[in-house]
Amino acid sequence: MNGPFSSLMTFPPARHSALERLAQFVSYAGADYAAHRNSDFGPDRPYSVSRLSPYLRYRLITEAEVVNAVLDQHSFRVAEKFIQEVLWRTYWKGWLELRPEVWLRYEKDVVRLTPLYAHDKTLQAALAGTTGLDGFDHWVRELIETGYLHNHARMWFASIWIFTLKLPWVLGADFFLRHLLDADPASNTLSWRWVGGLQTQGKTYLATKENIARFTGGRFAPEGLALHAEPLVDLPIPDPMPLSTFKPHDPTLRSALLLHPEDLHPESLFDHSFRFEQIYLLNDPSFFWGQRAFDFVSSATDELISGLEEKYRVSVKSINAQDHVGVIDGVKQDNIEQIITPYTTQGLVASWIEKQRHQFESAGLSFVIRRRAWDDAFWPHATKGFFPFKEKIPKLLNRFRSS
Ligand SMILES: Cc1cc2nc3c(=O)[nH]c(=O)nc-3n(C[C@H](O)[C@H](O)[C@H](O)COP(=O)(O)OP(=O)(O)OC[C@H]3O[C@@H](n4cnc5c(N)ncnc54)[C@H](O)[C@@H]3O)c2cc1C
Repeated sequence: MNGPFSSLMTFPPARHSALERLAQFVSYAGADYAAHRNSDFGPDRPYSVSRLSPYLRYRLITEAEVVNAVLDQHSFRVAEKFIQEVLWRTYWKGWLELRPEVWLRYEKDVVRLTPLYAHDKTLQAALAGTTGLDGFDHWVRELIETGYLHNHARMWFASIWIFTLKLPWVLGADFFLRHLLDADPASNTLSWRWVGGLQTQGKTYLATKENIARFTGGRFAPEGLALHAEPLVDLPIPDPMPLSTFKPHDPTLRSALLLHPEDLHPESLFDHSFRFEQIYLLNDPSFFWGQRAFDFVSSATDELISGLEEKYRVSVKSINAQDHVGVIDGVKQDNIEQIITPYTTQGLVASWIEKQRHQFESAGLSFVIRRRAWDDAFWPHATKGFFPFKEKIPKLLNRFRSS
């Protein structure tokens, strides 16, 4: 869509752009970030945050790289606020992996509620940005045109959606997933739940006119917002399940790497002990909720492919995610005996992998899933709230410091 924001807030779809953005941001990640991160002066004004989320989402750049770059310039104490925000992502990912039922419930609720609200006037006005609510209507357009909203704007938006417009939170979360470049099942679902009071029991987030005016530099001061935020009610939170474990790869087998949009930096996941005879790249619009995110990842993989061909000295073949049988035939023709793939978290790619894994195994191929050391270290601690998780961060981070 072309609109007033379309030239702003661009996210060049490439790992090298993420690294440049990180390099520019690092000096700001200490006291400046802590002081200004809540301010959102608009997409055309100097940024108070890193805008790394679309790159982190698909792991074009990893959490470990970002945190290490920051700790190379700042002490943990000075950069604590920024590091904690990066670890919020890790925490939400882990929390949902330990409770996949919460994602499955969300998916079912979207399917159930969408037809029920098909003719709802309030929903139509919200999606079109014609509610008349100052700020809210602007964020609708900004989100649709840029694929991004500042964290504070996301919080105000979700709060107004739930408590002022009284719309179901899952439909708001679905709207975000369809437009955000960084659309992520864990961060999105659990943040919406957090605003609605489902995540921390009894604790909601209420957007106020004064807070919005203060942190937007007076750009918006919406009248008529809800004055109370009664926590939403839902089924109880399931107990955390143990994380799945996987067999190690067999170095004697002819192996192929199966790369997918959940983790696009294989160089940091597979050390020199891995040899690949072939790399398969899996990408498909059905892995995304919105076209914009699909386009972003598709462009980012162009740069990735040439880099991988050079590094691993093999060709990278695109595979058609819709043709499940053809995928197996192609792999067999390449004389591959073992498929190795990065772990997929709850979401659309995970469903594909789970289905295909059985087919690979039925066809006599070994299928190996590899999870990152970062996730293995942090996720098991996402059993309770963020506060006890936060306490463990400094000690766990030491494992990922190279010096
Ligand atoms: C209702 C709602 C929905 C959200 N949906 C998503 C989503 O779909 N995908 C997504 O990546 N984030 C989501 N967030 C979290 C957060 O808003 C974005 O990660 C952040 O705005 C990205 O901007 P940034 O990269 O400039 O962040 P920075 O402030 O520079 O933070 C650096 C990195 O830390 C992580 N991070 C920062 N804040 C949070 C947070 N509150 N929760 C989780 N991770 C965080 C992100 O990976 C981010 O790139 C949501 C928040 C809310 C309130």
